[in-house]
Formats: sequence, structure tokens, C-alpha cells
Amino acid sequence: MHRNLVGMSRAGLAEEMAAAGAAPFRARQLWHWIYHRGVGDFADMTNLAKGFRQELAERYELRRPAISAAQLSADGTRKWLLRFDDGQEVETVHIPESDRGTLCVSSQVGCTLTCTFCHTGTQRLVRNLSAAEIVAQVMVARDALGEWPSPPNGAGDDRQLTNIVLMGMGEPLYNYDNVAAALKIVMDPEGLAISRRKITLSTSGVVPLMARCGEELGVNLAVSLHAVTDELRNTLVPLNRKYPIAELLEACRSYPGSSNARRITFEYVMLKGVNDSPAEGRELVRLLKGIPAKVNLIPFNPWPGAPYECSTDEAIKAFSDIVFAAGYSAPVRTPRGRDISAACGQLKSMSVRARRTTPAPVLAQPQPPA
Ligand code: SAH
Ligand code: SF4
Repeated sequence: MHRNLVGMSRAGLAEEMAAAGAAPFRARQLWHWIYHRGVGDFADMTNLAKGFRQELAERYELRRPAISAAQLSADGTRKWLLRFDDGQEVETVHIPESDRGTLCVSSQVGCTLTCTFCHTGTQRLVRNLSAAEIVAQVMVARDALGEWPSPPNGAGDDRQLTNIVLMGMGEPLYNYDNVAAALKIVMDPEGLAISRRKITLSTSGVVPLMARCGEELGVNLAVSLHAVTDELRNTLVPLNRKYPIAELLEACRSYPGSSNARRITFEYVMLKGVNDSPAEGRELVRLLKGIPAKVNLIPFNPWPGAPYECSTDEAIKAFSDIVFAAGYSAPVRTPRGRDISAACGQLKSMSVRARRTTPAPVLAQPQPPA
């Protein structure tokens, strides 16, 4: 198998080109073709000499992961199951909205953490994704949505892929180095060109890496809080035993770059009779005092065998009213793509799930709009 150039950093490409005896500007040209134009074939790199294109094709390839399945929800949400060279699979989800299109990217196969309400956390096979495998998810989505070349920096709001959230499978801060390397490629203005302001990293609370994430990457932060006491959070998000609520909120208070214009999102999954009382709503408000925050209430998305139920609409409304009255934006996240198991916390690679349940019907790969 040839060496794959897709997913390589600028420095990596420069090294490859130097090793191949090519002039340094070749690496820049390749970068443009791979990440700005999205070409999958060296033959299409029309400003490179034919001979050089042939040499490249003899040594390298421009390969995406295999798409094992592509599904389209009734609400327009798309989900791709991607298979990597070792056969491991992850899911990537695209959520279209009126003013944006968000790609929900995975950072690990499965997750080593075991949040009790999350389907990914029940998956046993776990490994980190490489930087290339994380970047490839964005490239596959841009292929399928027909959105090459990348938008010029700062533009592109009428596009289907404008935002990225690291809210797929895995805990991104447990794979920090690869996530950081991938995001640097994704944010490069001469390549995929998705600004750090349009990227949100969601963490279950890996406190020691939060400051570094803010300083080095400058992306928006979302924190999966889900409970207002350590006793309850210890069960729902077992990582809380290592980094309890007070430490987590301290790290949020000092998150680099957060301000009233750039708030930290606190995610709160609504679990019936578990964490959804008005008293807990009031305690949440008290805890967030002094932090530039917004709250995202996520109706629990059920999966087969899950030990919880979603809160009632009334309970969610009452909770949201309390948080809102205290001056925080508190939207209830509309579940998207439930019919194809693409909603928050439902992701689990199909190869694992298929052993017990019948997977949803597989549709043809989505075509770019005409
Ligand atoms: N590991 C990271 C990011 C992936 S999970 C994290 O935990 O933050 C993305 C979001 O989905 C998190 O807020 C997570 O708590 C939430 N989630 C997980 N399972 C869910 C479920 N079944 N229903 C609703 N939200 C869920
Ligand atoms: Fe992992 Fe996040 Fe799921 Fe917890 S909620 S098990 S950290 S993916």
C-alpha cells in the first residue's frame, strides 16, 4: 500500500516532499489540492508537471476511509459509518439547520469512560483515532455534500458544512494530541478553512487538559455537566470521581478566551426523576455564577437497554424556565436523526450493535446537490 497523504500536517507533507527530492513549494501546492480543492487523484493536480504527478502516484495515494454505510434521516440528518484500515469503525453525523450545517465528529473508536446514559460508553473496543482519521471525517462529509473547494476564509455561511462539534464517539481530551493535530489541519485558512470560532469541543471534564485546549486551539468549549452534586455526577459521569464539580468549574472559570461574547456551553442531559427537579435547576444557576455560560438541555436519547428515561416535556420546560430566568440562554436541544440512531449519545459503531439489533436500512450514498 502506498503512503496516504490525506490527513498529513503541513510539516509532514514538507518532509515527504523533501524526502522525495521535490522543491519545498511542492508541499504547498499539494496542500492546496488536498485540503482546499479536495482532489482524490494526483492526475487532477493540473498545475503540476505530468511527470511529477506520475511520480507522486507511484509513491503515494490520496485515500479516504471506506464508507460502510450512509443513512439519511427523515429530518435531513445524515450519518456515515466509516471503516479504517484496521477494520475499526466510527460514526460521523451531519446536521443541517436553517442558518448552519454542523458536522459531529468522532475522536475515538468507542470511549474508555463509562457514562451510564451514553451508548458509546458501552462499547468495549476502544482505540484513539489518528489525526488523519479525524480529518478524514471532514473530508468525507465535504465529498458527500459536494462542497469543494473549501470556502475562502471567513465566508461560506450558505454552505451545508459550516460548523464542527467534537461530540461524536469518544472523549476528545483523552486523545488530545491527535485531536489538536487534526484541528490545526481543519482550521488552516489555506485548506479546509473552518475557523476556530465555528468549532466546539465537548468534554466530560478532563480538567488538566482544558487550559491547554483553550490556549493552543482556541476552540469553543462545551462541558458535559449533567448533575449538580458530586454524589449524582459520580454515577452519571464516573470521571467526576477524578475531577469533581468544583475543580471542573474552576477550570471553566479560567478557560482561555471565554467571555460574554464567547460563552462556555454546559450540556445537561434530562433524565426523568434523576437530575431534572426545579431544585436542581436552581442549584445549577448557583453553580454557574460568574462563568460566561450558556446551558444546553439535551432530552435523553434512549438506546436499547438504557437504564434511564427522558424527562417529561413539563419537567424540561420548568427546568429551562428556571435557568432562563436567571439570565442564561437555555435552549432545549431538538433531537436530530433519532430514526437513524444519529442523535447525541446514540452513536456506537454498527459492527458492534448489529450483533444484537437489526441496523436501520442503508440508503445509497448521498449525492451532492445539482
Ligand atoms: N465525550 C464527550 C463528547 C461526546 S458526547 C462528552 O462526553 O462531552 C456528546 C454529548 O452527548 C455529551 O454532552 C454527552 O453527555 C451527551 N450524551 C451522551 N449520551 C446521551 C444520550 N443517550 N442522550 C442525550 N445526550 C447524550
Ligand atoms: Fe464517553 Fe462522552 Fe459517552 Fe461519557 S458521554 S461515555 S465521555 S462519549
